Amino acid sequence: MRGILFQEVKSIIVKDDLPKPKIKKDEVLVRVKKCGICGSDIESYLTGALMLTGITLGHEFAGEIVEVGEAVKKWQVGDRVTANPNLPCNKCYWCKRNLENMCKNIGGLGLTVNGALAEYISVKQDRLYRLTDDISFEEGASVEPVAVSVFAVQASGFKIGENAAVLGAGTVGLYTIQVLNASGASDVFVIEPVEPQAKRALEVGATQIFEPKNWSKINKLTKKIGPDHVFDCAGVPQTYMDSLKLVRTGGTITVVGIHAEPFEMKGFHQLALKNITMKGTYCYTQDSFKTALGLLEKKKIDIKPVITKRITLDEVPEAFEILTKPNNTEVKIMVEP
Ligand SMILES: [Zn+2]
Ligand SMILES: [Zn+2]
Repeated sequence: MRGILFQEVKSIIVKDDLPKPKIKKDEVLVRVKKCGICGSDIESYLTGALMLTGITLGHEFAGEIVEVGEAVKKWQVGDRVTANPNLPCNKCYWCKRNLENMCKNIGGLGLTVNGALAEYISVKQDRLYRLTDDISFEEGASVEPVAVSVFAVQASGFKIGENAAVLGAGTVGLYTIQVLNASGASDVFVIEPVEPQAKRALEVGATQIFEPKNWSKINKLTKKIGPDHVFDCAGVPQTYMDSLKLVRTGGTITVVGIHAEPFEMKGFHQLALKNITMKGTYCYTQDSFKTALGLLEKKKIDIKPVITKRITLDEVPEAFEILTKPNNTEVKIMVEP
C-alpha cells in the first residue's frame, strides 16, 4: 500500500510498497479517508523528539472499516469511524485513575506504531468511535485536535459566564476559542501577531483580536481586572511571561502549548503575588475525546477556518517543509490518502 515513512530527522518519503497492516483478533482495518498533519508531527520531523523513526506518522484521522478481527463484536465492514490514537498501558497508577493521557508507558498510533498517513491502518476496537451520518470524514479527523482543547478547558475549571484570553491562534488556539464559547464564555480575547491567523480567530468567534504588544488593552476591556482565564496555546517565551501579567489576580493560566526551548524567565514573582493558579495540560482522555466528537456532531465547532489546505500523499513531504518555515501561514493541512 501507499504511505508516508518517517525515515529519520528531516526525512519523510512516499512509499508505494509498504505492507498492508495485518489485523489482530481485537483489531479492525480502516481505509483512511482523511488525516490531518499535527504540530507534533512537525516537531518530530525537525527534532525526532516525540515520535519514533521507521514508522508511518499520522494520528488525526477518520475512515471506513474494511475488515474486522474475529474477536470484534461492535464493529462491521462499512462503519465510518475515527479513533483515539493513544495506546495507554491500562496498568499504571494513572491509567487506573482514568488519566490515560498521563500514562507512564503511553504509546500511540503514528507515535510508536504505524499511523494514518497511509491507505490503511489497523486499530484496536476499544479505541474506535463511530461517526454518525451528519459528520464528515474531515470533521472525524478533527476530533483529536478538538479533544486537546476540550481537555484543556475542562482541566482549567472554566465556569459559564467567565471570560478568557487565548494566546496563539493556531489549530489548538482556534479550537480552544470555540470550546470556550460552547462552554458559555462571556468574552474570548485573542492575542495573535499573524494577520491571516487573527482573521480566522474572528471567524470562529473571538470577541476581539490583539497584537502581543497591545495585551494591556484586554485589561481595560475587563474593567482593569484582567481575564479570569488565560490559555497559552502558543508555547513561546513571550506568551508565558504575558500570561502572568495579563491574568486577573486569583485567575488561572492553562499552558497547552509546549515550551520546547529554554528561556530566561522574567516576572515569575507575579505567580505568588497575584495568587495565580497555573496548570499544564497534555493530550486528552477518552472522556474529553467523546465530548469533542459530540461538539462536532452538534456543529458547535466549525472546522472550515482551521483547515487551510487539502493535499494527497504525494504532496506530504513538501507540506512538512512548508509547515517548518517561520513565515508559514497554513494552519491545518488535511491529507486524503
Ligand atoms: Zn495531533
Ligand atoms: Zn498506563
